[in-house]
Amino acid sequence: MSACQKKSVSCFACCGLANLNLTSEQKDDILVRRTEQFEELNMDFSLFPEFRRSREDQEASIPRHNPETYVCPFLGYIEPHRPGCLIHPARTGDSKSQNYSFYGASICLGYDCPAKEGEEETHSSLYSDFLEANLKSEYHRLVCDSELYSLLETITDFPDSVCRGSEASGLLVRLLKLRLNHPQSQRITSFERLMVRSRDSEAVMALFRQQDWQEARETLLELEQIATVASAEKRNPQ
Ligand code: SF4
Ligand code: SF4
Repeated sequence: MSACQKKSVSCFACCGLANLNLTSEQKDDILVRRTEQFEELNMDFSLFPEFRRSREDQEASIPRHNPETYVCPFLGYIEPHRPGCLIHPARTGDSKSQNYSFYGASICLGYDCPAKEGEEETHSSLYSDFLEANLKSEYHRLVCDSELYSLLETITDFPDSVCRGSEASGLLVRLLKLRLNHPQSQRITSFERLMVRSRDSEAVMALFRQQDWQEARETLLELEQIATVASAEKRNPQ
């Protein structure tokens, strides 16, 4: 299990689906149609290039939020309700099968968004577990949110300090929900980066809607206070 594929949810942001300027229902419809078309190939690798061309053509007229960001047509349903890579080696049995995609196997298998990278470095899935447990239906919009993650990382001892304990957890959920209010949060591809890596007002202004700024600042401050106390207790246990 990784941050991309959890027990009950998955993330697929870096495959570009959210870059399509469509409703959730329309994006779901695209995934269904890709999957049905892909299944007709019966995993015949020689047909992958034509599948890619065909899907890219069919989806070419759909407006993109960012025309520079690629939308990969090999993202589909790998199980009911579970989006994932249709040509992942776990399905094809070939470690290079993603070379039929625009990015190629080395990028598809090697890319880590900041949250995934953080979890692999620390060998702890605390943050993604927290999102899966508390905000399951929005998991795919949160774990990939590199800008949000940059802000959360400024909290002392994140994620340990704020992903445990009912008070901190409640505050963190509140902050994450405020982030979900922002329209940008509908179109995360994980490639967005927050230049301001601090708990300052610019970061809050970039990530939250104006009407949520005050609540976001206060929540962040409360989280930091809890985290500072938790960190001090960890260093000096009674
Ligand atoms: S954005 Fe991160 S968690 Fe989501 S699919 Fe990509 S690497 Fe995995
Ligand atoms: S080929 Fe790469 S970019 Fe395309 S769906 Fe698979 S993992 Fe995502």
